[in-house]
Amino acid sequence: MTSEAGKSLPNRAIGLRVRNCESCHGNDLEQLWRQSFTARTRLGQYRFDVNNVICRNCGFVFVSPVFDEADLADYYAGSFSAFAGAAPDYDVAKRLAFLDNVVPRGDLFIEVGANRPTEFHRRLKEIYGKVTTVEINDSVSSDHRSLATIPDAGADVVAHYFVLEHIPQVMKFLKECARMLRDGGMMICEVPDILMYPQDPSALQLYEHTNHFSREALRELAEQVGFVEISVSAEYCSRSFGFAAAFRKSVPHDARVSQATGQYRRNRELFLGGVRNLERSEAEMDHSYKTFQTYQDRGSSVVLWAANDLMARFLGRCSCLDNATIVDSNPEKASVFSPLMVFTPDAAADQIRCAKAIFIFTNFHAADILRQIEGSLGKTFDKGAVHVVDPSSDGSRGFVDRPSLRDGLGETRA
Ligand SMILES: [Zn+2]
Repeated sequence: MTSEAGKSLPNRAIGLRVRNCESCHGNDLEQLWRQSFTARTRLGQYRFDVNNVICRNCGFVFVSPVFDEADLADYYAGSFSAFAGAAPDYDVAKRLAFLDNVVPRGDLFIEVGANRPTEFHRRLKEIYGKVTTVEINDSVSSDHRSLATIPDAGADVVAHYFVLEHIPQVMKFLKECARMLRDGGMMICEVPDILMYPQDPSALQLYEHTNHFSREALRELAEQVGFVEISVSAEYCSRSFGFAAAFRKSVPHDARVSQATGQYRRNRELFLGGVRNLERSEAEMDHSYKTFQTYQDRGSSVVLWAANDLMARFLGRCSCLDNATIVDSNPEKASVFSPLMVFTPDAAADQIRCAKAIFIFTNFHAADILRQIEGSLGKTFDKGAVHVVDPSSDGSRGFVDRPSLRDGLGETRA
């Protein structure tokens, strides 16, 4: 399985910077959970030391010390983009329905963190006069590489979907959003919901995340920048583990001097509920690993599909991969686990046909992957030979059990 061609990528640690609570400016922080993870990108390996804390004053949960912005920019510039041609991993119809409810028309729509354009962007162009994208990933084409080059007060809508939880300086980012909007313009935001962590801790586990929002925490931060919350909804969020919120640009107000402790107790319990869930999913991964080991011991060949972070955690446990073939549809990932090789489905066709079992590291795409294998190779795996290794594989996220879109927003404020 190892390859002479595989070359090791440079390895560095993401720098850390002091960070107090951005919401109430407090520094009475309680540590909740920490982890370290080495992430692999197209250009190198980056170690993240993640220390999650909660503000005892206002209950905001965030990473402190926080990642250095310049290091993060390098990391994201080299990160893997959504694979061209892959279906979007979010619900386009829900994004459009939420927009239709809160800002059904406008001249300029700016999306920050757009990644690769999808059906969503094609539809946006039918609704708004001009659609501008900002994306720092070098492998994706976009109109801007940073917010700094976008003029003041020109936008009717500034949208960011699952971006704000990655931002090390939230207030600075929200101020930039306000700066780009015209008076009365609308900011659309989707983030993971701390309320859902006990059921689905994947947002808690992702080492890139620097903020863990409740609806109240997001509203408090946005109001300080001058936004007024118009609507908030989990039902209309394009991913099942988050919530969508719409804010209108208005006038900033000062941070409250002291805040209710209810947020502290509640967010602490939710976050630690997610940590306990994560510990259970670690135990499940141990179980999957033992299953994998029995195939290895028998000399049965297996396919490991989806070269992502979950697989990286899995491979970290493996001492022997003699009968395993790693597959990913994205050819850019060929050497991401160097010196192990990652093959495209075409290149690994023979191994896939002969495999006794398949381990799939994404619940979201598992059904599509099995259909693709059957369609292109005529290969079907017995039900007992398909192992989905993903903490969200209980159906709380992804293609299983999606709530249907109903009329009206979950919770709307005038
Ligand atoms: Zn605080």
